[in-house]
Parts: sequence; C-alpha cells; structure tokens
Amino acid sequence: MRILVIEDEPKTGAYLKKGLEESGYSVDVADDGADGLLLAQEQDYDVIVLDVMLPTMDGWAVLKALRATHTTPVLFLTARDDVSDRVRGLELGSDDYLVKPFAFVELLARVRTLARRGPPRESELLKVGDLEIDVNRRRVRRGNTRINLTPREFSLLQLLARRQGEVLSRTQIASYVWDMNFDSDTNVVEVAIRRLRAKIDDNFPVKLIQTVRGVGYVIEVKEAD
Ligand code: CA
Repeated sequence: MRILVIEDEPKTGAYLKKGLEESGYSVDVADDGADGLLLAQEQDYDVIVLDVMLPTMDGWAVLKALRATHTTPVLFLTARDDVSDRVRGLELGSDDYLVKPFAFVELLARVRTLARRGPPRESELLKVGDLEIDVNRRRVRRGNTRINLTPREFSLLQLLARRQGEVLSRTQIASYVWDMNFDSDTNVVEVAIRRLRAKIDDNFPVKLIQTVRGVGYVIEVKEAD
C-alpha cells in the first residue's frame, strides 16, 4: 500500500511519514502543491493525504486538477473546522476530511478505510432507487429525466444520499450545507427541502425524501406498507 502525503509543514510531514511507515505503508512526502500533484499523477498511490494550505498550489487546486484524470482516494486535511471547507472539499471530490489538529490514530483509521475501498471508481455514482447522482460531473437524473439543481440543492441532495437511510436532523443539515447554526430557526432547511422535493420527487410516483416527524429528513426508497 502506497501513500502520498502532500504537506508543507516539515514536522507534520515527517511525523505522518514515520507513523504511516510504522503501520506498514510505503510513504512519499511532497512539500508543495505542484510537486504533490506531479507525483500523484505519475505514481500509483492507494491513498493521498492532502493538506489545504500549501505553497505553489493550494489543496483545492491540487484536488481539482487531480480529479480531472485520477480517482485516487483523497483524505483532506483542513486547518479549521469550517463547514464550507468540508463541503467544498467533498464537492471537489475528496473522499474524507480531517480537521487539524488531529490524533494520529484517527488519521490512520481514515487512511485504512480509504485504502480498503480498493480500486478507485471511474466516476462516483450515488444511487437511491432510480435517482442517480454523478458526483464528479454533478449530474442528477431520475430514470431518464435529467434534473437541474442549484449548487446548494446539489450539496443538500449529496449529503442526504451519502447518508442514505439515516435520519438527519434539521440542525445537522443546516450545519453541513450552510456554514451556520440554526438552533432557533430551521425554516431555511424546510424551504430548501421543499424546493429539492419539487425537483426530484413531485413529478414521480415514488417519493424518495421522507420527513420523519419531529426528527428530520431521510432519503430512502420506502418499503411498501
Ligand atoms: Ca500547510
């Protein structure tokens, strides 16, 4: 298993290399974005650990350029627990993220999970019944019908679909999709869900977004009662 760590901070880079090597991985470290991208494109890695703040090319630019040709799993390291960073990373095609500072055991667990996923997918396709979300191309369809979503609607649908079958509270949805807390007013989530339903459910006999009264929302194909 080969890991590429793209991290400019020498101490962190050395620490990750040592820890991952002790855990049985073969590790390369690149200390700037452009070098990291070059290595990622030329070599065959099982997982890439990518820092956001990098010289020459930041993590966003590296990820975007890499995703044009490669589907290598990427664990994104963000400097702060900023929801918009996480969403942006996921939208650009990162597979997971970790907020600095993190415990090494947590990074190791994430790397193992990503490495276990095996050969990367050509294009990530999320499916819920006849709803298909092409994450990389940002295309959504139900059956043969193409559905156009705004970026916010796409983020919301992607969040629900990634956690298919799991009920998400309005507060959870608000904190993931909007970089805000809506402790007192989660009406904005209800409005967004209504708009999303109008596009993906209203014209179709089988409804995918379910309201769980007093709890939140879940996307799933509901078994017939
Ligand atoms: Ca950095």
